[in-house]
Amino acid sequence: MPDAVKVGFVPLSTAPRGILVIFCDDTLKFGAATRKALGSAASLVSRAAATNQFKGKSASTLDILAPEGLKVSRLIVVGAGKLSGLKDNDFLKLGGVAAGKLRAGSDAVTIIAELPDGAMKPDSAAAVAAGVRLRAYKFDRYKTRKKDGEEAALRADISLAVGDVAAARKAFAPNAHIVDGVLAARDLVNEPPNVLFPVEFARRASQLRKLGVNVEILDVKAMTKLGMGALLGVAQGSTQPGRTVIMRWNGGKRGDQPVAFIGKGVCFDTGGISIKPAASMEDMKGDMGGAACVVGLMHALAARKAKANVVGAIGLVENMPDGNAQRPGDIVTSMSGQTIEIINTDAEGRLVLADVLWYVAKKFKPKFMVDLATLTGAIMVALGTEYAGLFSNNDELAERLTKVGLATGERVWRMPLGPEYDKLIDSQFADVKNTGGRHGGSITAAQFLQRFVDDTPWAHLDIAGTAMGAPKSDINQSWGSGFGVRLLERLVAEYYEAKK
Ligand code: MN
Ligand code: ZN
Repeated sequence: MPDAVKVGFVPLSTAPRGILVIFCDDTLKFGAATRKALGSAASLVSRAAATNQFKGKSASTLDILAPEGLKVSRLIVVGAGKLSGLKDNDFLKLGGVAAGKLRAGSDAVTIIAELPDGAMKPDSAAAVAAGVRLRAYKFDRYKTRKKDGEEAALRADISLAVGDVAAARKAFAPNAHIVDGVLAARDLVNEPPNVLFPVEFARRASQLRKLGVNVEILDVKAMTKLGMGALLGVAQGSTQPGRTVIMRWNGGKRGDQPVAFIGKGVCFDTGGISIKPAASMEDMKGDMGGAACVVGLMHALAARKAKANVVGAIGLVENMPDGNAQRPGDIVTSMSGQTIEIINTDAEGRLVLADVLWYVAKKFKPKFMVDLATLTGAIMVALGTEYAGLFSNNDELAERLTKVGLATGERVWRMPLGPEYDKLIDSQFADVKNTGGRHGGSITAAQFLQRFVDDTPWAHLDIAGTAMGAPKSDINQSWGSGFGVRLLERLVAEYYEAKK
């Protein structure tokens, strides 16, 4: 999607044009360059702040139309709150808050990337710029007309005035690729299911080849040959054939063990024969949020030329009721050889993942595997829509994910695994059954996956609450959030990438 928002960097001393955005702290102090830009309008700002009870609290804003004495059309003051301890993620939010005040048709915008204690560091200015772009995203390609009062997507030429233009540009370059990855994931989640079916999803993933990613698409024949009976059992009820897509980015040392990310890509989930109720079934177009994240992540890593070997793998199917659909009671044989009794055809994501996890574990012998899946409604009962559920057989991996979750704001909360839960999915007719009853539904789903990872260090992220329909935030106003791209990009950057 061509971005309607252009973000660039100019020297701090550049005369602002169009709309001016400035930052203050919670004592309403401004930096030197900001004060200089305000000139005689500074007293107007303090009077406006007083009448509006604006105190510079974090993420609060003050909006002044065509301020007297300033050659700009609008002045937006964004509160940064207390300055001590501001992290990259806080700057990302500040950018989002600023962009949230802009309207369609805001042609030129100048953001003075300065706080009372001086020009923002290059990384912080880059985070502001990234936040602007994340917030400005809008999925409206299917709207042919706008109703009164409906906002068009933001189009703007945004300049960030920074202390060191070259350094800010350099810091922003990788961030811009990460934002592209997030937006790509959001696009995939937001697309309607008649447009984005497995074959089309695979085609879109194959566009990563332009970035140097090796993309291999396994069709039904190839998957049949591999014995992926669990995935194919789900796909057989649809006229849309399933696909598995393997994406490889080799930016690390030749022969270095890769890290692997696996995504559930159920392009539409009706529940199959165990059909879902009609209410909100349309949301099941987002049941491929895990796969969307993996594609967005591969985009981010390849575009910024990550120094790591990374495998991305997604299982793409449509879960439909049909004369050929699988039944509750069916027993399928997975690629691992384990037989699975189908209890509920709506517990299909784990069946898809079972074969893809096994395939990746055996074929690539990765350092670790992280899978993402909009797997269970039960995870929302436990965690709401703020945290993704984290399940892992490896404490180090779990701790790292928790840390990068806090750093990026894409937070994960560790849930238990254990033999007591595992026995709930023993089947009386096969090796394992695909549901474990009502209680602890997210946990038994994770136990199921664990039976298909062998000894590979592994983490499962249940993103049913965070990938779609999560509350809008300072940096996301879209239904599809792109959750997980920033989280896992940071995981790779922080722990698995050769340092320069
Ligand atoms: Mn389902
Ligand atoms: Zn599903």
